[in-house]
Amino acid sequence: MNCKKCGSTDLRAHRIVYEDGTSHGENDSKAQTPLAKRCSPPDSPGPGPVTFGAGLIFSAAAAFKAGYLHKWNEWIMIGTFGVSLIAFMVLWFFLFGRRNWARYNKLRASWEKSWVCMKCGESFLAE
Ligand SMILES: [Zn+2]
Repeated sequence: MNCKKCGSTDLRAHRIVYEDGTSHGENDSKAQTPLAKRCSPPDSPGPGPVTFGAGLIFSAAAAFKAGYLHKWNEWIMIGTFGVSLIAFMVLWFFLFGRRNWARYNKLRASWEKSWVCMKCGESFLAE
């Protein structure tokens, strides 16, 4: 396999460049070379803090409403909170998460096949 741009055979897979150029320090800190950063895999699409925060507020509101209707019975409130949070996350997944995951899987698959030329820096997909 040759570089599509300059014809060099000095090629490395993105995965190797990424693993080689990334070091993990304390407290989840990450040191990366610029090349490793460019060759990073896509971020996995979990529910972000905004989604999670919205879910908490929604669930708290539901629990408050249930408490109001049931003389502030704490078990009903806790149960409503839990069920609402799960329902919210399931709903989020079907509305947005599923699509994000499909896109992520596609990006991830092309990352697995990506190579970078160590001579000219061109990135391309292996066939
Ligand atoms: Zn090249």
